[in-house]
Amino acid sequence: MLTRKQVQEAQRKALQYMEKAGVVLSPKDRENISVADFGLSDLERQGGQILTFFNTDRISAKIIVLFPWQILPEHWHPAIGKDIGKEEIMRVRWGEIYLYVPGEPTPHPRGRTPEGEEGNFTVWHEIILKPGEQVIIPPQMVHWFQAGEHGAVIDDYSSTARDLQDGFTNPKITRETKIIES
Ligand code: ZN
Repeated sequence: MLTRKQVQEAQRKALQYMEKAGVVLSPKDRENISVADFGLSDLERQGGQILTFFNTDRISAKIIVLFPWQILPEHWHPAIGKDIGKEEIMRVRWGEIYLYVPGEPTPHPRGRTPEGEEGNFTVWHEIILKPGEQVIIPPQMVHWFQAGEHGAVIDDYSSTARDLQDGFTNPKITRETKIIES
């Protein structure tokens, strides 16, 4: 869970990153940045700031902001009904990310996982993405990613997002973020 103050602070910071990255935002967009801690209450190390532009029953577009070294935890987009699962294209707009997918583990990966959480990160084939670079993540493929030292702003295009049904390696994760008013 996060306090309302933590959420507001993360929203404010995320907005600064988006502006730095040249994302054009309406006043409504500015109010719509969601902050996800994946139920881990450790936003600084694991979480994300997400602005969804649209999510129809066919396509979706989001901006994801990661603060320095923040990790979007390992997950996959499962098949649901007739949908084979979300196909996702991540394109870095600003900063740098380290994306991990199945394949030959990279010998000296740049990503660093929190101590004691090694078991929650099972894929270690590293793809480094810099501004203007993109990767297509097929449906159901396990992946996680981490921002580099300056953080990152990512354009995220996909088929329909069903975030609440995503699968996560860490059994402690819940996709909803509890916010406590204080
Ligand atoms: Zn994903």
